[in-house]
Amino acid sequence: MSGFFSKLLDLLFPPRCTFCRRFLKKDEKHICARCMKTLPFTSASYKKKGEFFSVCVAPLFYRDDVRSSVLRFKFKGATNYAGCYGKLLADCIKERLGERYDLITWVPLSSARKKKRGYDQAFLLATAAALELGDVAVELLRKMVDSPAQSGLGAAEKRKANVSGVYEAADPDIINGKNILIIDDVATTGATLSECARVLLTAGAKKVLCAALAVTEGG
Ligand SMILES: [Zn+2]
Repeated sequence: MSGFFSKLLDLLFPPRCTFCRRFLKKDEKHICARCMKTLPFTSASYKKKGEFFSVCVAPLFYRDDVRSSVLRFKFKGATNYAGCYGKLLADCIKERLGERYDLITWVPLSSARKKKRGYDQAFLLATAAALELGDVAVELLRKMVDSPAQSGLGAAEKRKANVSGVYEAADPDIINGKNILIIDDVATTGATLSECARVLLTAGAKKVLCAALAVTEGG
């Protein structure tokens, strides 16, 4: 976009902070200075482990302004957050996972859910993060069953049962022998990521690593 039009757009729709929605100052990009100081960033050594993936890294904890921002991204059409989230994720992946993966993919929505929402937020996230990493995200998983959203379920056992058998490997030939990085928006119990990892390992993947934008504490 030319400088003139982007200035005009900024004038008509002044950019707001992705997290707290305050208007941004000229020297701020995506995130305001206050949020940079106060957002619940995880420590560099933070890691979540799962049954079928070796490690899950995430730049943020899922609470307060992070939670409301992610909900706008997932359910209110704030797809323009993908760039900001992708940069946060890419920095976290570079710093904490290095280049220990061959392929980047994401946790897909079912086609029915995607149609209803109009977009697949984890695909947008993986694509934005991959772009920052100088890579591309490839579709390696498909969700065959439109199971209820994990966010509506409580106990870990229920979450695990809800995702069991609903994903399928999209392209076993590409998956075979590879180290795969799966990207998702939020990791709670890790049940979804673990099930996706199980499917990829069954299809011949060597190892599965995960990265989420945000993780719940404890869970
Ligand atoms: Zn802010």
